[in-house]
Amino acid sequence: MLLPDQRAAVAQACRELLATGLVRGTSGNVSVRDPASGTIAITPTGLGYIGMRDSDVAVLSADGEQLDGDLRPTSEVALHLGIYRARPDAGAVVHTHSMFATTFAVLGEQIPAVHYLIVRAGESVPVAPYARYGTAELAESCVRTLGSGFAVLLANHGVVAVGADLAAAMMVAEAVEYTAELAWRARQLGTPQVLDAGQLAAARAAFASYGQPAAHA
Ligand code: 13P
Ligand code: ZN
Repeated sequence: MLLPDQRAAVAQACRELLATGLVRGTSGNVSVRDPASGTIAITPTGLGYIGMRDSDVAVLSADGEQLDGDLRPTSEVALHLGIYRARPDAGAVVHTHSMFATTFAVLGEQIPAVHYLIVRAGESVPVAPYARYGTAELAESCVRTLGSGFAVLLANHGVVAVGADLAAAMMVAEAVEYTAELAWRARQLGTPQVLDAGQLAAARAAFASYGQPAAHA
């Protein structure tokens, strides 16, 4: 079996996304790129996450040839491969239809910086123009709008989070949804205060040394 560890990690991430409510049913998809071989472990299309086995996770070459796994890969293969092509720093991609982030995607609005955690996503979370799910047009729109950031909203569809590894991409997906929910809730009660560029830059700089030293992480 190719990429056993990466396939197990993808299946586990899917269960976590289900448990935290970021995905429902068969919405969303997850992939990890193996830095050594450049091959990609990616979720199968149309399969619920609860019973997903490691072997259900497909393995693709960088240009999309299926190398392992019996099930067809996600309908968003072009989007995942497009991100990996454009972003040598990307080691994982997490796509969800999480409710509050997708609410802003439906409004065509960037997620306002109402909480410092949004810096996990980069400078901002822009909205990629709408194209039908599973198309090369959507992949192109997503990659272009993502630029050098770590998260992008897909208009009338969902959110895509990128990270150096799967843990980082999951953290981005969670931070985006958390900030979107907070912004939505704050708007119910009044006009949210939004952090300015200087405050966001300071939070971003502080994250460089946040948490335990690498040996304990
Ligand atoms: P897949 O089941 O093909 O991964 O599709 C889910 C999805 O979110 C499409 O955008
Ligand atoms: Zn989707």
